[in-house]
Amino acid sequence: MQSKLRTKDRLWSTEESTFCSLCGTGVESHDHLFFQCPYAKVVWTDVNQIAHTNWAHLAWDELTRWAAINFSAMHNHSHLVARLTLSAVVYYVWFERNNRIFNGTSKTPISLVAEIHQLLRLHLSAIKLKHPLSEIIKTRWGLA
Ligand SMILES: [Zn+2]
Repeated sequence: MQSKLRTKDRLWSTEESTFCSLCGTGVESHDHLFFQCPYAKVVWTDVNQIAHTNWAHLAWDELTRWAAINFSAMHNHSHLVARLTLSAVVYYVWFERNNRIFNGTSKTPISLVAEIHQLLRLHLSAIKLKHPLSEIIKTRWGLA
């Protein structure tokens, strides 16, 4: 996943604008799109609150390296939630960005957060684990 997504700073020759389609002001790069963008920041703040995670303090390259090293252990359910959260936010922000560019549709950060919340809840309820989720996590996600 490391820097392979073709953000506009890598596609400048084929795109009309290098500006971020989520906020319209920042130059679109991985760091901007996924973390520094005001739109993404709202999504992160709300999702971190829901998932009790604390993402968005690293640059994209550091983050993907850190995640690859630390998130292989499935038995740690806090890490599992954090990994699912990271994947979901990156996926939804990327999807939102593409919808704006290619379909001309847009969603508010609040509706994106609601979809991410729903997806994470579904994942956590369906995932097969060796050890059941802790009561804290089940209660937090309405799975108790
Ligand atoms: Zn932006």
